[in-house]
Amino acid sequence: MDLSDTIALLNIALSLELNHILPQIFYIVSQATDRVLATGYTDKDGTHWELSRDKLSRVMAGRKRCIICAKQSILKTMLSPLCESKEGCLMRLKNRRDGTLSFLHEDTASLMGAAWIEPIGLCAPCTRLHTDICNEERRKCWERLAHIFGLVLEVVRPVSSRQVDNE
Ligand SMILES: [Zn+2]
Repeated sequence: MDLSDTIALLNIALSLELNHILPQIFYIVSQATDRVLATGYTDKDGTHWELSRDKLSRVMAGRKRCIICAKQSILKTMLSPLCESKEGCLMRLKNRRDGTLSFLHEDTASLMGAAWIEPIGLCAPCTRLHTDICNEERRKCWERLAHIFGLVLEVVRPVSSRQVDNE
């Protein structure tokens, strides 16, 4: 699926009131390029899909909050107490942290996991520690996605007066 299609997916989910999956859809939509988010896109059938101003604001604000979550994970980098190569791991962690933080502002897939850790060549205990830290921070963010995208009030469906009258 092209990320552009997620705008159609979000609009369909909203129209069908699929509130329980909206946080995840908002997150996926936030991965689309700024141009697609701002102008929408036209699908193969010629239907033009775009975000309302309110939804665009939610996506952009949520994307910023996701990036902050990812930064918190990266800022927690430290050597494992069981580190097998303190000098090497310290240098690799510092280089990776500095490099990642320098482009993180444009990394829209900030919650996509700990895949960045393995290739940097840390010792096994440090790799395990940072994979655990990254996964834990990502889990916390996933649990907060409804808050991150300002959806908490929409996810809880209010009881209508008609429902109350019928009970
Ligand atoms: Zn180490």
